[in-house]
Amino acid sequence: MMRKHMSTSDGTTITEDPRLTPTDDGDHERFAHYVPKAKLTAALVNGTPVVALCGKVWVPSRDPERYPVCPECVDIKANLHR
Ligand SMILES: [Zn+2]
Repeated sequence: MMRKHMSTSDGTTITEDPRLTPTDDGDHERFAHYVPKAKLTAALVNGTPVVALCGKVWVPSRDPERYPVCPECVDIKANLHR
């Protein structure tokens, strides 16, 4: 089984361009979060949870609905490209 290292720290290094992905939790956290593209792809294939840039963890799904973009993710993504 191919498993990537699951880092629980906040210091995860993002080397790839994150993709915007909506959560599908059904609670008040209805935001679209940025997730590293490779992790998102694997998550969609395997049904495993992903960790957004802001630390949000959920199992992504292809959802056509539009959500407001998570402000924390926007902030973190902006800092990544500085
Ligand atoms: Zn977020």
